[in-house]
Amino acid sequence: MDIINLLSEQISNQIAAGEVIQRPGSVVKELLENAIDAGAKSIKVHIKDAGRTSILVQDNGIGMSPKDAALCFTRHATSKLKNVDDLFHLQTKGFRGEALASIASIAHVTLKTKHKNQEDTGTLIEMNGGTPMRNEECICEQGTSIEVKNIFFNVPARRTFLKSDNAEFTHIRNEFERICLAHAETSFTLTNNGNEVYNLKAGNPRKRITDVMGKKSNESLVPIEEKTDIVEISGFVGKPESAKKSRGMQYFFVNNRFFKHSYFHHAVSKAFEQLIPDKSHPAYFIFFTIDTTKIDVNIHPTKTEINFEEGKFIYTILLSSIKQALGKYNIAPSLDFDVETSFDVPISHKNELPIEPEIKVDPSYNPFSKFETKKTTGTGTNKALHKQGFGQKSDSKEWENFYAIREESKEGQTKLIEVEDDYITNKYLVKNRYLLSNVKSGILIIDTHRAQQRILYTEMMSTFVTKPLSAQKLMFPIDLELNQDEIDAWIESKSLLSQLGFHFKNDSGGIKIESLPSCISEKNHNICIDNITNSLSGPERPNRGELAHTLVSKLVYVASQNFQVKSDYEIESFVNQLFSCEEHSFCPFGKPIMQTLTIEELTTKF
Ligand code: ADP
Ligand code: MG
Repeated sequence: MDIINLLSEQISNQIAAGEVIQRPGSVVKELLENAIDAGAKSIKVHIKDAGRTSILVQDNGIGMSPKDAALCFTRHATSKLKNVDDLFHLQTKGFRGEALASIASIAHVTLKTKHKNQEDTGTLIEMNGGTPMRNEECICEQGTSIEVKNIFFNVPARRTFLKSDNAEFTHIRNEFERICLAHAETSFTLTNNGNEVYNLKAGNPRKRITDVMGKKSNESLVPIEEKTDIVEISGFVGKPESAKKSRGMQYFFVNNRFFKHSYFHHAVSKAFEQLIPDKSHPAYFIFFTIDTTKIDVNIHPTKTEINFEEGKFIYTILLSSIKQALGKYNIAPSLDFDVETSFDVPISHKNELPIEPEIKVDPSYNPFSKFETKKTTGTGTNKALHKQGFGQKSDSKEWENFYAIREESKEGQTKLIEVEDDYITNKYLVKNRYLLSNVKSGILIIDTHRAQQRILYTEMMSTFVTKPLSAQKLMFPIDLELNQDEIDAWIESKSLLSQLGFHFKNDSGGIKIESLPSCISEKNHNICIDNITNSLSGPERPNRGELAHTLVSKLVYVASQNFQVKSDYEIESFVNQLFSCEEHSFCPFGKPIMQTLTIEELTTKF
């Protein structure tokens, strides 16, 4: 009749593990936090197979006595909490006494530890799925080393749930970075399958940020500093121009613990409002120091969500301190919010016209040619015009119809304006960019930069699917300063990038660019590469098609900026090329390529 069983400690530990330990990255986080709590000044992490095979964390902290070592794998065994009151005065990262019990219940764990007061030998303990297997003396250094092998060996459902090695290692690295950023005073190393990923020397927060994020980030860090009775805020925000499309570098820490907070995030975004384009994300590394009784870290097992008693005040303080910092460092850029400015670069461009694509359009459709428009070609195969609903029938005036004004006749019928046979068609290039032409319906204005983007884009997109785009070998290969996430992103898209003309090596752990697409001049490679990196990295990786579109768009944007048509002949051929593109009304960024100033509009001006 009785059906209720008490779960064994082992099973309840496994259940608890489900909350605390979701993946190898969670083990890394818990072990690192314990090492920090133990006062370690040097912490080494060695990962094998993204943590599937082994996670080893070695610290030089206070260590554990033989008795504590045996106890630490028991659930609710903690040295950090003695009574309820302590809960509200916590300075340590751990306090639940759950992590080691959870980890031990789902893996093979070997602990070696020696307390600082122990003279000679330390303690070695082995646990298999929560069962103690060995407990003996051993020779070891002061401090603790814990190796966690075969994670989830006894929870197959979880093991199969793990993602690719790349994805799991990214989680590990993210956890590692969060702890490193919060503890600049501690030195850290991280290796993956024997390869060094990080070797971070102890230093100050600014140095730590640049060591983790890449040296280039140093120039763009703006310090923030605010001391109030409620909270102390310190740290850095990235200058507006360093804002990225991906939300990578955003970190809040409270009392040196990483946390996420959408409300405070909103405050930061608000401070950057008007300073960065839509959908860009500022970098921030913000440290709050606050009385521990005024926060609740207990609301989530992994403790990344935190309740602040005085959240509203902190919001205001945060907002004003960032605004002040940005003001103080004189950051009031007059940014144009045009989409294109997000990769507004000094221009690289080979001055000659691109290799002429096969022109499918009939030349008589050229609105800039006064003679040819008079010819009847009868082919009517211009896809571009078809697409616009013109030229279904063979008609020499297709392009003209396209721009013709429809006027209501007296009888209320619509008819096309007839054109004088000898109308004048002159063309002007204004500011080396806008091509003006006298067409029958008024003045047609083509933005030649956008048109060139469309032409190059169409050409590149159709070429690169079958063969690599032409690349220029660099005399001096470029070593990129990237964080690990970005390096991975480059590697992940290697085949696509080399198809586009970016050839690189990644043998020393970083990215060394050996050649660039021919359309990009070497002096502009930096900005181009930054743009590419932004597109590649980020939490949501676009699919190959989107990525190709984005990368090609960025390349053609850079390549089109100094573009200039020179001779009449060039103009002719240029316009023909434009109209041979299936899509010729909008540039790859969705902006209009041409506008017509109609006769009506003109007459209203006089
Ligand atoms: P918590 O950190 O919440 O106390 P854990 O299960 O993570 O719980 O750890 C249990 C206890 O084991 C800790 O309270 C601490 O006393 C001891 N411990 C764990 N890791 C270390 C370490 N690296 N160095 C010294 N002591 C440790
Ligand atoms: Mg802990």
